[in-house]
Amino acid sequence: MAILVCGGAGYIGSHINMQLNRAGYETIVFDNLVCGHREAVKWGKFIKGDLSNFADIEKVFSEYRIDAVFHLAAYAYVGESVGEPEKYYYNNVVNTLNLLKVMGQHGCNRIIFSSTCAVYGEPEYVPITEDMPQNPINPYGMTKLMVERIFRDYQKAYGLQFVVLRYFNAAGADPAGKIGESHNPETHIIPLVLDAASGKRADIKIFGNDYETPDGSCIRDYVHVMDLADAHLKALHYLEEGNKGDFFNLGNTAGTSVLEIVEAVKRVTAREFIVTPAARRPGDPAKLVGSNEKAVRVLGWAPKYGDIDTIVGHAWKWHENAGY
Ligand code: UDP
Repeated sequence: MAILVCGGAGYIGSHINMQLNRAGYETIVFDNLVCGHREAVKWGKFIKGDLSNFADIEKVFSEYRIDAVFHLAAYAYVGESVGEPEKYYYNNVVNTLNLLKVMGQHGCNRIIFSSTCAVYGEPEYVPITEDMPQNPINPYGMTKLMVERIFRDYQKAYGLQFVVLRYFNAAGADPAGKIGESHNPETHIIPLVLDAASGKRADIKIFGNDYETPDGSCIRDYVHVMDLADAHLKALHYLEEGNKGDFFNLGNTAGTSVLEIVEAVKRVTAREFIVTPAARRPGDPAKLVGSNEKAVRVLGWAPKYGDIDTIVGHAWKWHENAGY
């Protein structure tokens, strides 16, 4: 039996694929390489394919006996989703329906899904718990919420077993430096600050200095990509034990401000760079921190790399020594 990793050439998917292989699973990475990197797939088999194409999905399921699917294949730029919602609804929602259809036809009923704290929208309180009302404020978050709802209905009607993992801010890289984060365009704060530290960028812009936070910059909950990968393996065990399905936040229940990220990068890299105040970015809530109590209690998840200097240190090692 094999595990299918849709989107396994991407940042988070490639770390999950590595960890599945280390744990002894046979994996098949399925990716259209629109956002992913072929070089990131260093373990298991690779199939280039697209979830919009039934023949591509069908080919995988007829060639291999798939025991469970990790589904990370999606577009994930919030700003782009506002301008091009159709692209997001087709790729993230319709293509997930395609995947579920073929899974059903082949008797595969286990899926672990990459969701996001963007499903909550403006939080009513922090740390955010899984039962907080979900009111996404952009199409990206809405596509993920729609898929979450689809799983609930498919579970009742067709017996789908699912785990939805709502990531907070994924960060860091494989400590051994074999794989890491690489987006084009890059929009995430840690790689951008590292670019400023290494001189690839002239400066780092801080979006907003008048938020209601202690230093005025936005607070986020950064979670190490290796801890995310570990939670995915635990989610698989949870389904293997026969559990039907549930929703979990993956964060550290700890907030770090943008200015604290800048300070961490200065400490870790021992470099100085220009920090430029800039206007707020539309749609940014002041503070997003997720309670991980449920994932710790139910999945037995124990994040190992919560310390921000460790997260930044691993990202820096990747940034300086590798890259694709
Ligand atoms: N941010 C910033 N400058 C940048 C990129 C991001 O100040 O060049 C801020 C952004 O406004 C947010 C935080 O960094 O408060 C994290 O943003 P990122 O895009 O990394 O993740 P998000 O929270 O949007 O998923």
